[in-house]
Amino acid sequence: KVAVFGTRNYDVDSLNSANGEGSDITFTFYEALLDDKTVALAGGHDAVCIFVNDRCNARILQKLHELGVKYVALRCAGFNNVDLKAAEELNIKVARVPAYSPEAVAEFTIGMIMTVVRKYHKAYNRVREGNFLLDGLLGINLHGKTIGIIGTGKIGLLTGKILSKGFGAKVIAYDPYPCNLAEEYGITYVDKLEDLLSTSDIISLHCPLMDSTKYIINDNTLSHTKPGVILINTSRGGLIDTYALIRALKSGHVSAVGLDVYERESGYFFADSSAKVIADDSFARLLSFYNVFMTGHQAFLTREALENIADTTIKNLRA
Ligand code: NAD
Repeated sequence: KVAVFGTRNYDVDSLNSANGEGSDITFTFYEALLDDKTVALAGGHDAVCIFVNDRCNARILQKLHELGVKYVALRCAGFNNVDLKAAEELNIKVARVPAYSPEAVAEFTIGMIMTVVRKYHKAYNRVREGNFLLDGLLGINLHGKTIGIIGTGKIGLLTGKILSKGFGAKVIAYDPYPCNLAEEYGITYVDKLEDLLSTSDIISLHCPLMDSTKYIINDNTLSHTKPGVILINTSRGGLIDTYALIRALKSGHVSAVGLDVYERESGYFFADSSAKVIADDSFARLLSFYNVFMTGHQAFLTREALENIADTTIKNLRA
């Protein structure tokens, strides 16, 4: 018996279809995030199945334990929202979907880079108003630009490969655990993060959110970047100190930003959600900059990715 939190229609369809008729796994779908207010819904279930913005901290895990829940199945790759140490102490097993479609996120990242550098979003809005003037739409080529990839796991590596092999960009990367495929993909490692920051025209974040990477982009690291740098984040919002970014946008040091993820995005998934939390004014301030392009944690959302997520989630639950 599995309580599925944070459910959208496509979760219901893809999980039911992967589960198949007559399966011994039964799903109950809740269109609510797992948090202190909703955790009681997990009572009577063996497992909870959650996504990126469900909360699974030590307090909630303790409550799940008291309710008899033994498994947490993440429908995503990132696991920053689960306190793994607390889960281990409570003997709650946690599984994730490590590689459902790096292509989905890498391709979205390329689209986001193109949108930011060629201003598709502004052009679209203008043409809808019947305005075909081109002033303010001057872009840059990616060809020949230095693009820095922070984190060369499955997604960062593929993004770097497309930029290098497809666009002819000079792709450099920083990762404490370099991958031996990088050279073949046209990606060159730098030894220190500072070297990437100081030489990149565009920086794209692809490392996981962990204690060691929280606010990896902050006032200090931004001060090492080139004036006019462009920043892209399709990984996790907490990698960027949002207020430091706002300061850098205000000064003009950062010339454009593409964000699929945001530090305080909880609750946005449900149009009618009373859980909509904006803890401060950073969201409105970000959107007030004409050179910031934001989407709502959408990079994963392809048909193929959903199928893979559902298949692996069923396998994880069975295992
Ligand atoms: P992965 O585990 O394959 O790769 C992560 C890489 O980051 C690893 O190579 C690791 O060594 C590196 N890393 C760790 N600490 C680092 C540091 N301090 N500096 C630089 N690199 C560091 O993960 P992945 O599948 O490539 O996914 C990357 C992230 O993308 C996930 O953690 C997740 O947060 C995010 N993601 C977002 C979406 C979306 O819809 N926007 C979808 C899937 C994944």
